[in-house]
Amino acid sequence: MSAPLISISHLEKVYPTKTGDVHALSDVNLDIADGEFVAIVGPSGCGKTTLLKILAGLTGFTSGTATIAGAPIGTPRGDVGMVFQKPTLLPWRTILENVLLPVELHRKVGTAEREHALGLLAMVGLQDFADKYPHELSGGMQQRAAICRALVHEPEVLLMDEPFGALDAMTRDALNVEVNRIWRETSKTAVLITHSIPEAVFLAERVIVMGPRPGRIIDVIDIPFGRERTLDLLGSSEFADLSSHIRTYFEVTV
Ligand code: ADP
Ligand code: MG
Repeated sequence: MSAPLISISHLEKVYPTKTGDVHALSDVNLDIADGEFVAIVGPSGCGKTTLLKILAGLTGFTSGTATIAGAPIGTPRGDVGMVFQKPTLLPWRTILENVLLPVELHRKVGTAEREHALGLLAMVGLQDFADKYPHELSGGMQQRAAICRALVHEPEVLLMDEPFGALDAMTRDALNVEVNRIWRETSKTAVLITHSIPEAVFLAERVIVMGPRPGRIIDVIDIPFGRERTLDLLGSSEFADLSSHIRTYFEVTV
C-alpha cells in the first residue's frame, strides 16, 4: 500500500473539566488510504466526534500524532469538508448562497464559482432549488445542500458526523445511494460517523468499531462489496452477516 493520506498514531485526547479529566480517546491508531471510504461506529460518548474534530483541525489532541498527506494536523484545514448532523444552513441565504459560503470566506465569488456550485447542486438533484431558502426544502434536501457546501472548495477529505441521523429511513437510504455515487465520482477520501450499522456496511470499504470510554478501536472490518453500492445489497446474506457481526459489539445485557 502507498503512504496513507490520513495517519493517526497513539492518539490520546483528554478534556480537562471542572469535575476532573475526561479521557476521550486512548491509543487510537488508524491509517486511511487516499480515496478510501471509512465508517466509524461506536457507542454514544466513545469519542467519535472528538476524533473527527481532530481530523478537521477543529480541536487539538493531548499526545500522539495525526497527519494528512504527511503534514501534522494543527489548525482548521482548507482541504477537508465537514457535514454535521444538522444541515446548519443559514436561513437568510438562498441554497446557492449557502453552498458558496466556504468559497466566499476565501475569495470573491465569480461566474466560475457559481457554475461549480450549481453543478454540485445538480449532482444531488437540487438544480431547481438554488434560489430557494432553506425552510422551503425538506430535511433530506437541506442535508444534500450541506453536502454540496462541504464539497464546494474541493476538499481532499470529506468528514461526515452522523449526517443522516435525523432523517426517516427511506430518505436515508436514498441519500446513502447518493453519497456512494458522489464518493465514486469525486474520488474523495471519506470518513463517516454513524449510529447505523447497516449504513456503515452499505457505504464503507472498512468499518472501524470503537469501544466505550476511553474511546479506542476494538475492531476493523473489511467490507468486500466493491465501490458501487446499490440498495439490493441490503437484502443479501453477506450484508446481514457483516451487520450482525458488528452488532455483537453493541449487545447490552439488562
Ligand atoms: P461521541 O461523538 O462518540 O458521542 P464525543 O467525542 O462527543 O463522543 O465525546 C467523547 C467524550 O468526551 C464524552 O464523554 C464527552 O462528554 C466528552 N467531551 C466531548 N467534548 C467535550 C468538551 N468540549 N469538554 C469536555 N468533555 C467533552
Ligand atoms: Mg458524536
